[in-house]
Amino acid sequence: MTILTPATPTADWLQALHSSNSAWLVTDEQLRVAHVNEGFTRLLGYSLQDMQDAWPLEKLLGQDTELAPHIRDELEQHGAYTGELLLRCKDGSPLWVAATVNTLNRQPFPKVGTTAEVIVLTDIGFTKRFEALQRQMLEDVVMEKPLANLLHDMCGTLEQMIPQVKVCVMDVDASGLLNPLAAPSIAPQVLELMKCVRSGPDRGASASAAYLGHEVMTPDIAEDAHWGAVATLFTSAGLQACWSNPIKNHEGRVVGTLDFYFDTPRSPNELHRQLVLACLHLCAVAMERDASKHRIRQLAYYDTLTRLPNRTMFNECAEQALHAMRGHQGLVFFLDLDRFKLWNDSLGHAAGDALLREIADRLGSCTRPEDVVGRLSSDEFAVLMPHCAPDQMPFLAQRMLDAIAEPFSINGVMTTPNACVGVCTYPEDGTDIETLLRHADQAMYAAKGQGSQRWERYRPEMGKISQERADMERELRTTLAAGGLQLHYQPQICSSGAQRLYGVEALARWQHPEWGWVPPPRFIAVAEDSGLIHTLTSWLIDAACTQLATWRAQGVSMPHVSINLSTNNFHLPDFAMQVQQTLLRHGLNGQDLMLEITESVMLDSSPATLNNLQTLHAMGMRLSMDDFGTGYSSLSYLHRLPISELKLDKSFVQDVTVSSAASALTRSVLNIATSLGMTVVAEGVETQEQADWLARHGCPVLQGYRFAKPMPATDIGPWVQQHAERHAAAPLSHPND
Ligand code: C2E
Ligand code: CA
Ligand code: CA
Repeated sequence: MTILTPATPTADWLQALHSSNSAWLVTDEQLRVAHVNEGFTRLLGYSLQDMQDAWPLEKLLGQDTELAPHIRDELEQHGAYTGELLLRCKDGSPLWVAATVNTLNRQPFPKVGTTAEVIVLTDIGFTKRFEALQRQMLEDVVMEKPLANLLHDMCGTLEQMIPQVKVCVMDVDASGLLNPLAAPSIAPQVLELMKCVRSGPDRGASASAAYLGHEVMTPDIAEDAHWGAVATLFTSAGLQACWSNPIKNHEGRVVGTLDFYFDTPRSPNELHRQLVLACLHLCAVAMERDASKHRIRQLAYYDTLTRLPNRTMFNECAEQALHAMRGHQGLVFFLDLDRFKLWNDSLGHAAGDALLREIADRLGSCTRPEDVVGRLSSDEFAVLMPHCAPDQMPFLAQRMLDAIAEPFSINGVMTTPNACVGVCTYPEDGTDIETLLRHADQAMYAAKGQGSQRWERYRPEMGKISQERADMERELRTTLAAGGLQLHYQPQICSSGAQRLYGVEALARWQHPEWGWVPPPRFIAVAEDSGLIHTLTSWLIDAACTQLATWRAQGVSMPHVSINLSTNNFHLPDFAMQVQQTLLRHGLNGQDLMLEITESVMLDSSPATLNNLQTLHAMGMRLSMDDFGTGYSSLSYLHRLPISELKLDKSFVQDVTVSSAASALTRSVLNIATSLGMTVVAEGVETQEQADWLARHGCPVLQGYRFAKPMPATDIGPWVQQHAERHAAAPLSHPND
């Protein structure tokens, strides 16, 4: 039988054959095993005798009966077979091999069993295992297996493949801090040393690799100065050398390191390099995928500005907390900042953002770890405090308000943020978070109604009030769209001489088909809260201008119309231009409108408000300070804006003849206003005594029921006529009626 050349095997040749790591096996023409080399026994555990009972491949393939006939087929047709096979070793363990089978003395039409075969088997267990690892990792990534578990498994598989190495994956965060992500075989005391390590050029292999962005090798930890005092702890745990490779994301940023710790001082070999090269990529994919999952979760559930849970997340956490409370009491707080919009508009959005972050921090400082805090919308926050009794409510709510009201400096401007808080109790006021939040919100709303820096406890009747508000907003929207509001006008009279008509104030009126006349302060407040105030004011200006033009066309002598504006109107950047266009459309000019504003407009330093005020003034429109004396009442503010008229609030006027304080204050207001060149209009003049007192003390203009109630436009013409006739020659201080 000729096996291979040389025909007679030399000693050298036989030695080479036996020392080969591949398994060689030769059969005779009856396919009985004739020779095996030593490599065969080393690889599969079988001796020549073990192989005598069957066709060798059939025996080695074990149960895999379909494959054996297939290989036979190939051999009969082509005389050769190559492929990767999973064989069973003698001890039953599986072994992947690359198999090459060749027939010898092949005839043109060979018959089964008439040719000898040479079978060469090469161990490819390593490659196969690596492919399996790769497949498994990618599968795990797709199946969203937790990152730490996935990397833990990877380390384990690598350690099986290269037993002299302990593998570890470190996480590197954006600030350059390293923490172990997976290190299945590293002793706990060493693992402790690896936590919270800052990346740097001279601190051990992984911290350096993370810092430098390229591989770092410490061939002998014991001898390396950079490892310092910790070196002995590593070496005594059997970690003698470390080879660290940075894991980079697609942007090239280091997000982790893959570290090989060797059990002897040494450097990596070619096999280690190949493994690391492939694993780095897999780690990067897994880590990046995890990071984006985390980011998506952050975006979906956390508020990016304050890092607090958003509404969805708050609800979820709160539901869990309520569930865990199992009948114990708890409190839900709903917090809304006062005048946040004003803040945001006047100091800019960056300042608004800084304030919100600060508020979030302050809320954190007055809550416990088990409390759930969330940001629900722009300036609304919620807190669930489990295991709190209702009697703790006053203390907790006040503490929250106090924390918020600490002075806060931004861009060098010192301000004091304020808020209102509504509180309700679990389980009395609701058993699910949605109901509890709604009730706490209603209580917050009630607190707002009382002013700034207040808190209120939920009461069931609050629900009714908020429902009414919602109904009113809906109805007002429909009414405005249908042009269903009206304007009434109230004359203003000059106190001296013939009681000449000074002007009229336009006042909005709403008659609802079911509710009747709705008090203006109520629907104006709803309009301001809902944003409908812009539509309302546009309508108001247009209606007032239309009416003024009509009166003039009818020959009614009307000096001007006063209209009431809200602070919010001035936040529209093109508000002044809108007013201007309306005037032009009706052939009127700036002097024909008097714009009544409140002190909050004066205090609002937002660029839009200041621009609008300046533009309106430049167009010749006059500004009137309404309700003077009720708000901040600071005369020192008056010079800030080009105010030409002061409206003395009716609360002063009504007391002017009975209270010495009211009369003293009124006198000083009259003095200062006169010296500043402003006209004072006294509001709510109801009696002759009030009118006389005011006229005597030099108040130039009077408005109130004493002269006329607000009336429909059509009544104004006749009223003006009668008034002129009646007072043609009668001074106010000696009225006829
Ligand atoms: P205001 O600007 O201070 O208007 C004067 C209010 O006093 C009016 O109430 C008027 O009817 C009432 N009044 C007039 N004379 C007397 C009097 O002798 N005695 C008493 N007790 N009251 C008198 P009204 O019409 O109910 O309006 C209330 C408030 O609603 C207004 O206060 C104003 O702030 C607001 N408002 C009314 N119309 C509008 C509007 O078109 N736009 C805006 N933004 N606010 C409006
Ligand atoms: Ca007014
Ligand atoms: Ca007023």
